[in-house]
Amino acid sequence: MTFFDRSAALKRLASDHFDVLVIGGGITGVGVALDAVSRGLKTALIERDDFASGTSSKSSKLIHGGLRYLQQGEVRLVYEALHERQRLRRNASHLVQVLPFMIPILTKDGVVSKKIARALGSALWMYDLTGGWRIGKIHRRLKQQQALAHMPTMPSAKLSSAYVYYDATADDARVCLAIARTAAQHGAVIVNRCGAKTLLHDNDGKAIGARVTPINGAEFDVRADVVINAAGVWADEIRQSDTGIDPESIRPAKGIHITVPWKLVRNDIAVVIPVRSDKRSLFVVPWVPNGDGTFQYTYIGTTDTDYSGSVNESQCSSDDITYVLDALNASITTTVTREDITAVWSGLRPLVRSSEGSTLKSKTQDLSRKHKVEHSPSGMISITGGKLTTYRRMAQDTVNAALAQLGRRARCRTKRLSVIGSHEFSAKDLSAAESHLVHRFGSETAAINEIVAARPDLAEPLINGLPYLKAEAIFAVRNEMATTLDDVLSRRTRALLINRRATLSQARGVAELIAPDLGWSVQEIDKQVASFVDLCAREEAAGAVTEAEFLASNA
Ligand SMILES: Cc1cc2nc3c(=O)[nH]c(=O)nc-3n(C[C@H](O)[C@H](O)[C@H](O)COP(=O)(O)OP(=O)(O)OC[C@H]3O[C@@H](n4cnc5c(N)ncnc54)[C@H](O)[C@@H]3O)c2cc1C
Repeated sequence: MTFFDRSAALKRLASDHFDVLVIGGGITGVGVALDAVSRGLKTALIERDDFASGTSSKSSKLIHGGLRYLQQGEVRLVYEALHERQRLRRNASHLVQVLPFMIPILTKDGVVSKKIARALGSALWMYDLTGGWRIGKIHRRLKQQQALAHMPTMPSAKLSSAYVYYDATADDARVCLAIARTAAQHGAVIVNRCGAKTLLHDNDGKAIGARVTPINGAEFDVRADVVINAAGVWADEIRQSDTGIDPESIRPAKGIHITVPWKLVRNDIAVVIPVRSDKRSLFVVPWVPNGDGTFQYTYIGTTDTDYSGSVNESQCSSDDITYVLDALNASITTTVTREDITAVWSGLRPLVRSSEGSTLKSKTQDLSRKHKVEHSPSGMISITGGKLTTYRRMAQDTVNAALAQLGRRARCRTKRLSVIGSHEFSAKDLSAAESHLVHRFGSETAAINEIVAARPDLAEPLINGLPYLKAEAIFAVRNEMATTLDDVLSRRTRALLINRRATLSQARGVAELIAPDLGWSVQEIDKQVASFVDLCAREEAAGAVTEAEFLASNA
């Protein structure tokens, strides 16, 4: 599996000339790289940090059309997203799973608002007709007892009935990684921890590549005919490096999630709960299945607020936690406290600031999730906005623009292009442990089994109480370009997003486990653990104060 090798990729980056250089290894960038390489373009991608380390590992992990966007009148966007949902279900079938969602219909003072129930029913019909049907099931109404069975902690006195509709879920960071690896398998040169420092221009001002700085290495130039800026909330930095002017085209919107023990909520499907204070809703999503209809954790999110701090660090604040806990506790009969929270995560949506509608006064939740492909005078192409779900369509539009610039033609191939791991695997009649591996590795599960066959101790849990195996960490450093402890604990596995304390307490053991493969000395192990401890400590500190207080502490 040498196609995803960092040092080989660095050598080729320095020596080859590319048709396309993509800056940014989030879902947008890796999608563009796969689209470009599969159309026959010689493609390179550089990621400054780790794949998906920006927004693409911090989403709500839904592959969805977004019922809310339909209610906002974005029919075209929802249609497109539901079509993409179906394509991703087919092309990455091991990673994407159908997830039923329940919308409870609550009574006010013992009375059900027929108007609300009818409006919801109509919206769900619209969702199904817009493309929801493609999943093979359409929405249905549940009686009170059926609804309660899906989440027994809901207050039965207030619950009248519910609707169930269907969407899908996927581990965002793994989808991003799988697409990066698939692009590499098709011949793209893909590398993490290698940022674009400045853009390179020829004498006519045309963008012809970037000067890059690989971690622990000397900087060098990467040459390409077309440069594509897919840097998410950092896209304006790249554009400033291109033109010298900050276009202020991105309006970052922060969203957080919290994880709590499942036994406090006991929902066996995702549930949409209302936030009374601002007419929004939150998703309550069961996580880490036990295989018998019960789960170990539930995560709840997300918020949608303007963000004015540095885009290099967004944290979940005390206010964010209060907002989510208040909404959750208003919807259940149990009480979930701050002490119950096992993990949090926070991400920034790279929303496009439109020249007309979206003034600073409008709420970020009302801004469109559409994407935008823009050309700079230098020829650099920037792709911004969009959603995890629509990454493929975004990539198609971006590569169409690149081909036009190159004066070439090639048909898009990604509509039916299988992602690595999605070939020939069976997800039927599996135990929880087998299902865990198959839904993360698909046909590559065989490689994990081989690692275990050679060293049976690697079948032990990586973090006690979580489903990940030690063998998965070894696979991550050998085949998935994981180069830090955080890569393994935050993105190759999602341990940090599930249970911070458990993960932290066993971080040294994980560092020692992967050290031989990464050639780490004892000092390097100490450094990796210290940096992970620091990351966790900052996250914990941010959760104890307001966002303003946390930002002021960094000033
Ligand atoms: C809270 C939240 C919930 C969401 N939920 C959903 C959901 O459920 N479903 C859905 O479809 N969408 C969802 N989204 C939207 C989705 O997550 C984003 O649209 C998507 O992840 C953005 O990906 P990106 O690649 O554009 O940005 P990023 O993932 O941020 O990637 C940009 C990358 O560029 C790199 N970079 C920056 N500067 C440089 C440089 N100089 N050189 C090299 N690399 C550089 C960064 O390190 C980063 O990795 C959600 C977003 C948020 C914030």
